[in-house]
Amino acid sequence: MPRHIVCLTFDHDHLSGFIARGMTSPTAISRGEYDVVVIPRLVALMERYGIKGTFFTPGHTIDSTPQAVLPYVEAGHELAHHGWTHRLPVTLSREEEEEEIVRGNESIRRISGRSARGYRSPAWDLSPHSIELLLKHGIRYDSSMMGHDYDCYFARQGDVAELMKPFARGRETPLLEMPISWSLDDFPHFEYMRLPNGSVQQGLMNAGNVLDNFVDDFTYMTRVQPDFGILTYTFHPHVIGRGHRMMMLERLIQRLIEGGAVFMTMEQAMGEWLARNQGARKAAE
Ligand SMILES: [Zn+2]
Repeated sequence: MPRHIVCLTFDHDHLSGFIARGMTSPTAISRGEYDVVVIPRLVALMERYGIKGTFFTPGHTIDSTPQAVLPYVEAGHELAHHGWTHRLPVTLSREEEEEEIVRGNESIRRISGRSARGYRSPAWDLSPHSIELLLKHGIRYDSSMMGHDYDCYFARQGDVAELMKPFARGRETPLLEMPISWSLDDFPHFEYMRLPNGSVQQGLMNAGNVLDNFVDDFTYMTRVQPDFGILTYTFHPHVIGRGHRMMMLERLIQRLIEGGAVFMTMEQAMGEWLARNQGARKAAE
């Protein structure tokens, strides 16, 4: 019996992404705040189709605007770690990065009563310390890397990438990597951004065209991995929340259901992957 798992994930940056980029004008803040409008609609949409998703939420979002987070926590969606601020780990010292993980864990425990199992790095760029620190603080899976499309793998620690030498792989760790892709993220496709450094992210793509891309990646999974695969989509409430994109998200869900998708939280998908790969799990421990 083929089994094709889809994880719908939402990076609930709220104000944190704008503040971390130095964008603190009333208009920038309002762009982040718009997700307070969107979250109940998203929760209702997923409820209609009986889907549970995963929300990667910075501690800053939880502690600033808990009323934006509670609707999905109370509806039983997974709450996962996305730093405390939205600063990139690769820009932080080891101490600063550890403080982010500890503080984010505290925020998650306070609002949900349970610890985060999963982590996704702000802007998807881990530091050389991330894997070790995540394991130290109880994180079981990461979702920030791009080394596969339809399968999980164990994250490595201690890679050595030096310009004039062959690349040296580090050792596998027990941290499960559940990979993502920029091509399956709403942010670069849709979000128009003029950044403080003068660069522009154009975004504003036709939602129907993006829908075709997103569906084709699922269909291709059923061809190249006919028995089992996991596909993860990434959305941002303030981006996907605009009307034409919410219509696209609902059409995506419908087409994935028609294609036989099984929807799961990342934590559930991790559990199923580990159960199917007992040997690999033992080797990494
Ligand atoms: Zn984010």
